[in-house]
Amino acid sequence: MVVELDWENLGFSYHKLPYRYVSHFKDGKWDEGELTENATLTISESSPALHYGQQAFEGLKAYRTKDGSIQLFRPDKNAERLQNTADRLLMPQVPTDKFVEACKAVVRANHEYVPPYGTGGTLYIRPLLIGVGNVIGVHPADEYIFTVFAMPVGSYFKGGLTPTNFIVSKDFDRAAPYGTGAAKVGGNYAASLLPGKKAKAAGFSDVIYLDPATHSKIEEVGAANFFGITADNKFVTPLSPSILPSITKYSLLELAETRLGMKAIEGDVPIDQLDRFVEAGACGTAAVISPIGGIQYQDKLHVFYSETEVGPVTRRLYDELVGIQFGDVEAPEGWVVKID
Ligand SMILES: *Cc1c(COP(=O)(O)O)cnc(C)c1O
Repeated sequence: MVVELDWENLGFSYHKLPYRYVSHFKDGKWDEGELTENATLTISESSPALHYGQQAFEGLKAYRTKDGSIQLFRPDKNAERLQNTADRLLMPQVPTDKFVEACKAVVRANHEYVPPYGTGGTLYIRPLLIGVGNVIGVHPADEYIFTVFAMPVGSYFKGGLTPTNFIVSKDFDRAAPYGTGAAKVGGNYAASLLPGKKAKAAGFSDVIYLDPATHSKIEEVGAANFFGITADNKFVTPLSPSILPSITKYSLLELAETRLGMKAIEGDVPIDQLDRFVEAGACGTAAVISPIGGIQYQDKLHVFYSETEVGPVTRRLYDELVGIQFGDVEAPEGWVVKID
C-alpha cells in the first residue's frame, strides 16, 4: 500500500481523495458521467437544492477483505432507495447500473484509500443528487447533478461496541407523519441538528425520536434505526411511514431469522413498554450496530442489558453482519459486490 494513514484512528470526517464521479442531467437525460479530480461543484446561485431542499443523498461502504480484495455491501439497495427518494422530491432517478458503476469506479480510482483489513476502517461512499440551474419559483429543477465521492472512515460512535445512552426528544420531531421521513434528504438532518446538539450537551449520544403523530412509539435513534431484543428471543424494530428504511436494519431482520433462529418482527415499539427488551441497539451503515445502554425518558434512565457491556445477542448480530461485510462470513446471495 502506497498511502499511509493512521488507519486505526480514522474517525468520521471529510478527507479529500484524488477522484470523484460527476454526471449531469440536462434536456431530460443523464450524460455518461466521468471521474474528475475537481472536488468543487460550481452551481447557479438559484439552484433549488440550495433554496428548497431539492436534494438527496446515500451512504454505503467499501470493505477490504482478508485476501486484500474490496467489496461493497448491497449497493443495489442504496440505488433503489435513492430512486424512491428521487420520486418523492420529483427528481430524475439514477438507474441502478449507473449508480453501482459510479460507486465501483470511485472505489477503484481511490483504492489505496480503502483501509487495510483488520483496522476496522472502511471507505465511506457518499452519493449525492441535487437539483441545480436557474429556478427561483417553487418548482422542480430542469437540471441535476449526481456525484459520488468517498473517504476513509473509522467507527462513527467512538467506542465501537461500547453501549451509550440516548434521550427521548420531548420538544422536537425529525419528520412529519407523511412528510419526508422515509426519504434520505438533507432537510430531515437540518431539523435534527438542534435536538442532537441539546442531547449531546446533556451528556447523551443522541436523541430518540418518537412517532410524530402520537409521540408514543420509538421511530429513530439519531440518524440510525432502532432494534430491541426480547427475553423470548425476538428481534423487534419499529414500522412507520416516517422512518428511514435502513438497509442495515432489513439485513439484520433477515440475519436474525435465518442465522440466529430468532423471530424477527417489524411493529410498534411503545416508549412506555421498554421493559419487554433485554437488549437494544441502533443500526445503520455509519453506526453499524451501536448498543444502547439506556434511554432517558421522563426523568428516568431505562437501562437495557448494561450501561457498560454489549449484550450477547447484539454481539452475535454484529459478528454476523460485520463478518459478511468484511468477507469472513458467507454472505446471502447477492449481498456483496466485488470491485474488480
Ligand atoms: C441513512 C439513515 C439510516 C441508516 O440506513 P442504512 O441504509 O442502514 O445506512 C437510518 N436513519 C436515517 C435517518 C438515515 O438517514
